[in-house]
Amino acid sequence: MIEIKNVSKWYGDFQVLRNCSTSVEKGEVVVICGPSGSGKSTLIKTVNALEPFQSGSIFVNGVDVGAPSVDLPKLRSHVGMVFQHFELFPHLTICDNLTLAQMKVLKRTRDEAIERGLKLLDRVGLAKHAHKFPMQLSGGQQQRVAIARALAMDPICMLFDEPTSALDPEMINEVLDVMVELAKEGMTMMVVTHEMGFARKVADKVVFMDAGEIVEEAPKEEFFSTPRSERAQAFLAKIL
Ligand code: ATP
Ligand code: MG
Repeated sequence: MIEIKNVSKWYGDFQVLRNCSTSVEKGEVVVICGPSGSGKSTLIKTVNALEPFQSGSIFVNGVDVGAPSVDLPKLRSHVGMVFQHFELFPHLTICDNLTLAQMKVLKRTRDEAIERGLKLLDRVGLAKHAHKFPMQLSGGQQQRVAIARALAMDPICMLFDEPTSALDPEMINEVLDVMVELAKEGMTMMVVTHEMGFARKVADKVVFMDAGEIVEEAPKEEFFSTPRSERAQAFLAKIL
């Protein structure tokens, strides 16, 4: 579903991604971890072309993400993304946040978009909040709306970049629970997170990055029990 091959990227003369290769099969959950500044966000953003890269290739469901001719709105509607900071439109109600892109990009009617949006809002446990504005919700609730908004586009896969790291501890689980559910339903997911409990529960494999490189990639059991590289061992010793 997602094929990343020998991807390198530079900011000026600073190389932020070094020959990165990995893949996510349909229905798989891949967790990306690694120290701050290792290039995790940059890598995940290359997948829906939020960050360009200079060499290598990325295919999402057969679509060449790096091709100049790529249809970006279409690509991004297929590839849902949820960031660290819940980027809801502050001046729109939750309902409008959920329906806007469905109408604009997918050309759904308002009624269709509302029906789909409210169904997903219910699924993330927030059916009663449709008329509110983002400011009136907690961080965990806003993040669940952000997930519902991405799902409303019927994505073929979902990218998450540290979706819980800006949340107060008591709200982390309500967001992780939604993500665990999604994973169990078979959603293809690429997730940057340091929540190793989440990784242990649902990841199929763990990718460890350091200094722009994919240093190690292994099934989760193997990664946690016997990390091969010293860098991964040192990282795990710090966070577990
Ligand atoms: P964190 O865990 O802190 O989120 P990360 O692994 O997601 O870190 P990235 O945000 O991908 O790391 O950044 C990788 C490196 O690229 C860092 O050294 C960062 O300073 C650098 N970098 C990121 N964006 C830019 C930019 N626009 N221009 C120059 N350098 C950048
Ligand atoms: Mg990051």
